[in-house]
Amino acid sequence: MRLLITGGAGFIGSATVHAALAAGHRVVTLDKLTYAGSLDNLGDGPLNSNGHRFVQGDIADGELLATLFRVEQPDAVLHLAAETHVDRSIDAPTAFIDSNIVGTVALLNAARRYRDGLTGERADRFRFLHISTDEVYGALGNEGAFDDASPYRPNSPYAASKASADMLVRAWGRTYGLPVLITNCSNNYGPRQFPEKLIPLTVLNAIHGLPIPVYGSGSNVRDWLYVEDHVSALMTILERGCPGEIYLVGGRAEQRNIDLVRRICRLLDEWRPNGRPYEDLISFVSDRPGHDFRYAIDDTRLRTSLDWSPRIGIDEGIRRTVAWYLDNEPWWQARCQGRWQSARLGLGAVAA
Ligand code: NAD
Repeated sequence: MRLLITGGAGFIGSATVHAALAAGHRVVTLDKLTYAGSLDNLGDGPLNSNGHRFVQGDIADGELLATLFRVEQPDAVLHLAAETHVDRSIDAPTAFIDSNIVGTVALLNAARRYRDGLTGERADRFRFLHISTDEVYGALGNEGAFDDASPYRPNSPYAASKASADMLVRAWGRTYGLPVLITNCSNNYGPRQFPEKLIPLTVLNAIHGLPIPVYGSGSNVRDWLYVEDHVSALMTILERGCPGEIYLVGGRAEQRNIDLVRRICRLLDEWRPNGRPYEDLISFVSDRPGHDFRYAIDDTRLRTSLDWSPRIGIDEGIRRTVAWYLDNEPWWQARCQGRWQSARLGLGAVAA
């Protein structure tokens, strides 16, 4: 298949590009290269050969999109481009509206025009796969799990922008007949995640001897999925999913934040002993405003109807991830311009 992958220079997007190329698909990556995107994530090989073309650009740029669809003639779009950091959305929500909502509408419009011009089997085969998050459903208490009938109750500007995008994708499916699929996935982790996110931040602060910030009491619970398993779910849904459906994707690996951070500290004690337990660096800081207490996913539909399940458990996944950050210092040095420091974001001090 010829795939247009937006956000392909980011964390999950780059893993998707690598997997799609390995599976023999031809890929056009469209990415704006914000602070979160990097060509480093696309590997050492030539960017514009071996079935891959990279285009730097904004998903909100309608003219660029029209040209890309006309020239590249994709069979499917995998839409991952987005602003993704909840804390940044609290400080400066406007970029989230621009990329996640306005950008998604531009992409939907371009995909619809293009698909309306296709005929026969090519029109039938076209898919628009929108990659979203479990955060659109808001917060759970101690019990239960989100499923595809759960009401949307987004709490952060990030979650609200993704929820808006999901609604728009659904509407383009219902109103214009665009063959859309939506996935709502739990927290991803793995190589090449921008170091502002919990797991890489913990590793990098720890090895620099800096305080490891844990929001509130650390009792918030997230379900974790190794990025390659998310990508395998996306490829499965792209190939065999039913247009118009929503698929929840999860790892069935719920962890309290504090337990996850302690698990990483214990691994570092083993692999990078420095004379005192890394847990001593844990610092409880004021909670994120509107911090959702717990997310959990009921992904029975995906597991039963499409026969998908994750391959990497949380123990193995965390070991792989921590090892990757320890082994890839040039990658994270480039992300922080050679001087690692983590600023506290997400207290809502800046309005934009
Ligand atoms: P990321 O922040 O690592 O990467 C996002 C990429 O999108 C970057 O390469 C960035 O340059 C690009 N981008 C941003 N705005 C753009 C624009 N206007 N035009 C073109 N490119 C733009 O994000 P990620 O963690 O890889 O997440 C990818 C997608 O998966 C997002 O849609 C996110 O909402 C969703 N998701 C993420 C998680 C997670 O745990 N990381 C979980 C579920 C769903």
